[in-house]
Amino acid sequence: MATTWFDHCPFCRIVHGQTDTPILYQDDLVTAFPDIRPIAPYHFLIVPNVHLESVNEVEPAHEAALGRMFSVARRLAEEHRIAHSGYRLIVNTGPDAGQSVFHLHMHFIAGRHMPFRA
Ligand code: AMP
Ligand code: ZN
Repeated sequence: MATTWFDHCPFCRIVHGQTDTPILYQDDLVTAFPDIRPIAPYHFLIVPNVHLESVNEVEPAHEAALGRMFSVARRLAEEHRIAHSGYRLIVNTGPDAGQSVFHLHMHFIAGRHMPFRA
């Protein structure tokens, strides 16, 4: 079978069901799954199904998917009963932010106190 461009993107492979990664949520616009190296008791990733390298590629046509990422964050918080204890949403963009996977993703992190420092 011919390889396609998304065979080389780990998150595209997850979105397209080519891995064993458990899917926490999926619809026509976004997919959520556990981070493989969690840094807190709850650490999920929410990604647009379309391949965008980072926020630097976002255009108005992507706004529905980006909005859906937030409503899925709320849904995950409620499902896991952590909406009120709190959670952090992070979108790393580029080298100074330490972005390591170049398919736009929102980290959903919760389950411990997280003092903020850059
Ligand atoms: P970032 O530094 O914002 O690019 O974060 C990338 C995140 O993706 C890291 O927290 C990794 O642990 C996570 N990650 C990398 N590969 C996978 C994978 N195949 N499945 C789930 N999470 C992954
Ligand atoms: Zn991708």
